[in-house]
Amino acid sequence: KLHNQIQEAKGNIRVFCRCRPLSKEEISARYSTVVDFDAAKDGDLGVLTGGSTKKHFKFDRVFTPKDDQVDVFVDASPMVVSVLDGYNVCIFAYGQTGTGKTFTMEGTEHNRGVNYRTVEELFKVANERSETFSYSISVSVLEVYNEQIRDLLATSQTSKKLEVKQASEGVHHVPGVVEAKVENLKQVWDVLQAGSNSRAVGSNNVNEHSSRSHCMLCIMVKSKNLITGECTNSKLWLVDLAGSERLAKTDVQGERLKEAQNINRSLSALGDVISALANKSSHIPYRNSKLTHILQDSLGGDSKTLMFVQISPSENDLGETLSSLNFATRVR
Ligand code: ADP
Ligand code: MG
Repeated sequence: KLHNQIQEAKGNIRVFCRCRPLSKEEISARYSTVVDFDAAKDGDLGVLTGGSTKKHFKFDRVFTPKDDQVDVFVDASPMVVSVLDGYNVCIFAYGQTGTGKTFTMEGTEHNRGVNYRTVEELFKVANERSETFSYSISVSVLEVYNEQIRDLLATSQTSKKLEVKQASEGVHHVPGVVEAKVENLKQVWDVLQAGSNSRAVGSNNVNEHSSRSHCMLCIMVKSKNLITGECTNSKLWLVDLAGSERLAKTDVQGERLKEAQNINRSLSALGDVISALANKSSHIPYRNSKLTHILQDSLGGDSKTLMFVQISPSENDLGETLSSLNFATRVR
């Protein structure tokens, strides 16, 4: 309750910046680090843009390469828990390919990320509240590629195109999508694995494919107050966005051009929606991309939004780093 009051007082959009460590390759190529974390504790990030010039960016949190998955989740968890209080929540990882979006969201089996920790926390809190509330939790996993929605939990791929529909006032959904009911962490892990396995199907390079599509995990919570009988439905979206990098002009032809345009379009649409919300604009352009359309009822209103802007520390990535930081500043 207190956490929610604090969040409301500060508005409903948070931006956390996370910088990965230099990779082995970057270290052996002797690339220098262009980010400084002197004031990271205050949410300040410095970027050396050449010579002695330093540009400063301000975020709600800055995670340095030394911060681990637990440090990150500690700060994200009040937001995820608010889905149990009936709020819709969206968490995104934005950034250039290779900066740690998937590491932050999915993590690895021994270093699990936000997705798994979220569900673990939801089960824990739900259990603590079990005298007063009964909760039912289900999960969907979607992929958006070239403005097409694919259900990663569907056992047989139907040829039917999935589309976003408005079910009732303010409620959007994708009819026909699998909603897997989960009752324990083992089931959740299996569902997440099934989702990422079917992501690979039909693509010859899994990493390339996943860097050009948005992976969207939706956790749906039905809650019933056992004393008052009051019921709520809420959703938590956990989104690993397509890589935000611009392709070299010479690379961009045919299918790649179409992909690049679709990624650009959806990431700009996301930026436009979040900044329109932050500016309390009267028109919020949800319909400009599948991504924002799917998320329509979970962005804005009293929903909560958290964006991780993921960056590389290497001088070699300076251009993309500045462009991601500018994007994140615009939505804040
Ligand atoms: P993206 O999804 O943005 O393309 P990945 O999550 O695949 O990036 O990360 C690229 C590589 O960097 C992976 O090998 C990943 O394990 C590693 N990595 C990313 N962030 C971190 C981090 N904070 N600490 C350690 N390794 C990281
Ligand atoms: Mg990835």
